[in-house]
Amino acid sequence: MIPSEKEEEYFARLEYEKRQKIEREKHENLKAAELTKLKKLHFMRCPKCGMELIEIDYKDIKIDKCSECEGIWLDAGEMEAVAKMEKSGMDKFFGVFRKQT
Ligand SMILES: [Zn+2]
Repeated sequence: MIPSEKEEEYFARLEYEKRQKIEREKHENLKAAELTKLKKLHFMRCPKCGMELIEIDYKDIKIDKCSECEGIWLDAGEMEAVAKMEKSGMDKFFGVFRKQT
């Protein structure tokens, strides 16, 4: 092989690697964009029926209640926090959601 050919091969490979890197980054961005899209679509939406959740902040616990099916959703760690509550505290807590009569 004459030296110049070897050089061409080298630069072609560099070019290929450069483009491959660009494509890979594009794919990564695509994934990130897809995740952002999904998050936007689902954020504060009921996982069951897809309607909007109402977030209530009570004693440092945030509880999301569905405006449609009335399901109650907890963030990570909040289940434990609710479980540690006194019975009276829990009654007050869920009383927030109770329908006024
Ligand atoms: Zn729901």
